[in-house]
Amino acid sequence: MKAIRRFTVRTVLPGPLQPLGELARNLRWSWHPETRELFQSVDPEVWEATGGDPVRLLGAVPAERLADLASDRRFLRRLGAAAEELRDYLTGPRWYQTVQPAPDGDAAADRLPDAIAYFSPEFGITAALPQYSGGLGILAGDHLKAASDLGVPVIGVGLLYRHGYFRQTLSRDGWQQEHYPVLDPNELPVTVLRDEHGDPATVVVDLPGDRRLHARVRVAHVGRVPLLLLDSDIEENGATERDVTDRLYGGGSEHRLLQEMLLGIGGVRAVRRYCALTGHPEPEVFHTNEGHAGFLGLERIRELTEDRGLDFDAALEAVRAGTVFTTHTPVPAGIDRFDRDLIARHFGGDNALADGMPIERVLELGAETWPDGSPQLFNMAAMGLRLAQRANGVSRLHGSVSRQMFAGLWPGFDAAEVPITSITNGVHAPTWMAPEVGALGARELGQQRLEDAMVVGGHTRWDAVDDIPAETIWELRRTLRGRLVEEVRRRLRESWRQRGAGEAELGWTDTALDPDVLTIGFARRVPSYKRLTLMLRNPRRLQRLLLHPERPVQIVIAGKAHPADEGGKRLIQELVRFSDDPAVRHRIVFLPDYDMSLAQHLYWGCDVWLNNPLRPLEACGTSGMKAALNGALNLSILDGWWDEWYDGENGWAIPTSQGVGADGHPNTEYRDDVEATALYELVENQVTARFYARDPDGLPLRWIEMVRHTLATLGPKVLAARMVREYVTELYAPAARTQRALSAAGPDGDAYRAAVELAAWKARVRQAWPGVRVDHVETTGLGSTAELGSTLNVRVRVDLGELGPGDVDVQVMAGRVDSADRITEAVTTSLKPADRSDLEGRLLYEGPLTLDRTGAFGYTVRVLPSHPLLGSPTELGLVATPDDSVHVDDGDLR
Ligand SMILES: *Cc1c(COP(=O)(O)O)cnc(C)c1O
Repeated sequence: MKAIRRFTVRTVLPGPLQPLGELARNLRWSWHPETRELFQSVDPEVWEATGGDPVRLLGAVPAERLADLASDRRFLRRLGAAAEELRDYLTGPRWYQTVQPAPDGDAAADRLPDAIAYFSPEFGITAALPQYSGGLGILAGDHLKAASDLGVPVIGVGLLYRHGYFRQTLSRDGWQQEHYPVLDPNELPVTVLRDEHGDPATVVVDLPGDRRLHARVRVAHVGRVPLLLLDSDIEENGATERDVTDRLYGGGSEHRLLQEMLLGIGGVRAVRRYCALTGHPEPEVFHTNEGHAGFLGLERIRELTEDRGLDFDAALEAVRAGTVFTTHTPVPAGIDRFDRDLIARHFGGDNALADGMPIERVLELGAETWPDGSPQLFNMAAMGLRLAQRANGVSRLHGSVSRQMFAGLWPGFDAAEVPITSITNGVHAPTWMAPEVGALGARELGQQRLEDAMVVGGHTRWDAVDDIPAETIWELRRTLRGRLVEEVRRRLRESWRQRGAGEAELGWTDTALDPDVLTIGFARRVPSYKRLTLMLRNPRRLQRLLLHPERPVQIVIAGKAHPADEGGKRLIQELVRFSDDPAVRHRIVFLPDYDMSLAQHLYWGCDVWLNNPLRPLEACGTSGMKAALNGALNLSILDGWWDEWYDGENGWAIPTSQGVGADGHPNTEYRDDVEATALYELVENQVTARFYARDPDGLPLRWIEMVRHTLATLGPKVLAARMVREYVTELYAPAARTQRALSAAGPDGDAYRAAVELAAWKARVRQAWPGVRVDHVETTGLGSTAELGSTLNVRVRVDLGELGPGDVDVQVMAGRVDSADRITEAVTTSLKPADRSDLEGRLLYEGPLTLDRTGAFGYTVRVLPSHPLLGSPTELGLVATPDDSVHVDDGDLR
């Protein structure tokens, strides 16, 4: 019989055990091994059965056991210590507090942001809160955790999906099956945000046709960081609206739009409610992790137009100043776009967010104004970039790819000048480091120094790895590999039972994999650019590697294909079929249901982490960083983070092919062949050779040296702590400063004075710009030859039309030139206005230009708008350069 109603009956903890509730409600347990050990000791069997989930553990432990514990003095002592440790963690000063300028000092205006709101469509905090599909969500989770460790006052904002992302199993013939278990919020580590009256706080977003979308705000506590999750599955909603937060990345485009409206608009409203109800400081900076939450900017414009009486342009300036946008995809097809009509329906007419927000202005923000852009589409990344004064990609290479990809938004500028910087992703060490690695670190360094090294970051401390004896490192790697092998066998049996195998067929799984064989891990989502099956390019050759008599390898693979991606599912099936073959199934395994808990086992136990994306489509990639933190060596295409930090000693680089076949045409088959062959050769000749080269004591000394080098040099770099600190100093702090400058009141108490002025200035400059011209350029001071080190004087005559010298910057831009006369690696220098103007009132600018490199050298001059509150001189996309008719006089120079 089916129940007509479902309740969750909550456990009442006996008084002395109340702190267990506190510990369970704060997700800090997910990166704090001591707290997990405490929960495990409550009831090891139930702990195991719940997959290590404290909330479910407390709901399932028999009352007698709790009664016993309530009088177990030893347990209570440990419990008291753990609860106190958590309280210290939550309230004590941390890194952010130590770098904060004193409130009354000279630097008070430079104080760091009071709070930062961080929006993301998914958050991967722990397998017990399955609200993520892959790297984007895990990164968001790691960002919150590192922010918490550093004391950065972040508020996370996301959605609570009733089914999360799907769970994956396999059919008998290796086809991906998707399951959507219902997640009962009462069984999740979240609490309901309540209003002054103790009722659940809700937010509402208006939809076209007089529909309203309500959402309850649930809060997950990620250490010090509150994560607000909006849940639309509540009685106030009609059936369609209830389903808005049904699942992650499911449904059609309208469904996705409603999710993004809830996340962006509802999210800002949730933040306001949360701050009002709890006294948390209001965010000064809003950071959107990918474009999905971009509507948060529109909601903040609405606030300023409706509540503060600003016009659209002034509001836009104020909002942009405090917004940071991080782009994550170098694949144009991966960008989130909607039909303009759909946007017009949801943000126009009766459903306009505010009177002062005409639909044309909204549509302009997402317009694809570049040459091959689509006039029908609204592009969320374009809106993200227009609504954020500061933007970044997630590795150095990805920053450069993003500047090219979005260059169309800044016509007139070279890609190198597109105002998108980069901050390379990092991973949260306490989450991803095996407890055994942490324990060894604590033994070698001391607990406090280890925490400092992992939480605050610092190179010197990681060098201590060099002092750890080789056999200790090797023993640790053996232990971790052995644990992985056990876990693989367990999961393999489970998967085969699920695929319909009887017990009698499963004997072989007891000896699948070998704890002494070189173990390669490969796990990721399955979009085609990640090339799940590259290793199958030559199946016979792969088989030979697996079955090599002296130097075998074993491979563990996992990954989910998006439910709508039939191609991805076929790749999985190909791999599963290969690994089902009795000839190799003890050496290659595909494990279903890649999630954070499986991921941890893989990163801990693998010797080599493989990644073979199509360069440059992997924006950063973080799984290899997590593996490196456990002493695994990376074997990867030079893409994303590996392009930046591969140093020849910390792993191997798979060479990339230009993808041009013998006939000179791009050919992906050819490219895959070349890169797969390179991969086989590396494994065969270098990786296995080094792993199996043993000294008389059985130690692979050169391998261990690479492990040490990896830990010592990559350890401090791959940290999410390093990443979050960079976000604070390079993006959040400057954003807060500009935001404050723009929102400050003028002398008459008129708030947002500078925003109003900046908007008016921009309008004036835009309008007057067609009148700005470079009239005449001349250089003097050089003989007949240009020699290294000589300096010439550049003099430029400009006509500024209705603008004045204070509105512009006149620059000379110089550098090496390529065969098409394009300046590369340009250096720009501002010229100074000369005291006099010419007879017709045109202004003269001049300055020195030093010839500081040999070879083909060139220069040009240009005029840019200039204002102290611009984020970058390219911000307006305006530039005036000499046209062909301009007179250039270089004297005798040839
Ligand atoms: C780290 C992680 C990812 C992202 O890995 P990439 O290397 O960026 O592909 C995806 N899923 C899980 C479960 C992870 O832990």
